Amino acid sequence: MTSLSRQLAELRAPDIDRLITARSIFVQPLGAVEQHGAHLPFNTDLLIADRVATTAVERVGEELDVWLLPPLVYTKSNEHAWSSGTIWLSASTLLAVLDDIGRCVAMTSARKLVFMNGHGGNSALVGVANREIRLHHGLMTFLAHPGVPPDQGGDSPASELGMGIHGGTDETSLMLYLAPELVNISAAVRNVPDQLAENKYVRFGGTVGFGWLSNDFGPNGHIGDPTDATHDRGAELFQGAVDAFCEALEEIADFNLPMTGG
Ligand SMILES: [Zn+2]
Repeated sequence: MTSLSRQLAELRAPDIDRLITARSIFVQPLGAVEQHGAHLPFNTDLLIADRVATTAVERVGEELDVWLLPPLVYTKSNEHAWSSGTIWLSASTLLAVLDDIGRCVAMTSARKLVFMNGHGGNSALVGVANREIRLHHGLMTFLAHPGVPPDQGGDSPASELGMGIHGGTDETSLMLYLAPELVNISAAVRNVPDQLAENKYVRFGGTVGFGWLSNDFGPNGHIGDPTDATHDRGAELFQGAVDAFCEALEEIADFNLPMTGG
């Protein structure tokens, strides 16, 4: 008898009634297949989200009753619609897909669904989906990231002026650690919209947001400074991401809606 898989796709039909309970938590990694400049592969977000989710579930899955869904490969990457090779779903398609996933998870006894989202371009929509799924299917829903994107309150290294949002120091470091054979570091160049850093409000991470496409900042496709990326930084970021997600899963395990008492 081999040890129990925590991956839903590897279970057999009777296992669902036997193993999935009201305490169970499903984790759905969200990837992307989108251009990441000349130095990183299309599957960067997919690989990072999947590896963080898989490693965390291996560590705390049994203790916290966590189950891993196969990663959703394609998501909403239309900020890279100009780039051939990027395969993206429209916002309305992804919203419908996430709602469908919620409906299917609600067919089991599990009450909690966690999205581990590797692609910042999905975050706002997943927030919307979380409420839709809560309303339509009654699940408790959660959105986690390997690292908080800098345009959503996270930070990025000084040379990026807080704007390393795509293919920059941190993402490139993670890939140098997780899949160095897929990184062409000799093609890495700094591509940061320096003029935005002078704005008090209208900037990445500022209080006034703006709609943007990745080619609004030149033809390179990435936004950040991958030249500072290192394997060791990637190792540190990865362990930090796994530790944080494991701790978050502990809180999710104790979390309950509707809340009673006060
Ligand atoms: Zn990315």
